[in-house]
Amino acid sequence: MSKAYIRVWRQEDVALIKQHLLVVGDVSGDCANCKHIGIDYRTSQTCPNCKTEFKYIASRSNVTDYGGIVHKIKNARPELVFIDFNDFKRMSEKNKAREFFK
Ligand SMILES: [Zn+2]
Repeated sequence: MSKAYIRVWRQEDVALIKQHLLVVGDVSGDCANCKHIGIDYRTSQTCPNCKTEFKYIASRSNVTDYGGIVHKIKNARPELVFIDFNDFKRMSEKNKAREFFK
């Protein structure tokens, strides 16, 4: 058996992800729901500010080294769904634009 990290595409509700997303920066994490910064992504189950429960996690750094960043984050938080931050950003901007032109 050889295990490796591989991206899986599936349909998700981007607005729902935003409410429960922990974004990992260089040293700490921030909450996508309320923008609170300085969250310890290794241990925080909920946002200390808005109290949302984290269900998703993403890395702000460009994930090109699958063995590095992905492994580090997945190792720390295996229970959270690791999503691609660029995908998330692209789709939330698209949703925002759609709302604007309604
Ligand atoms: Zn929050």
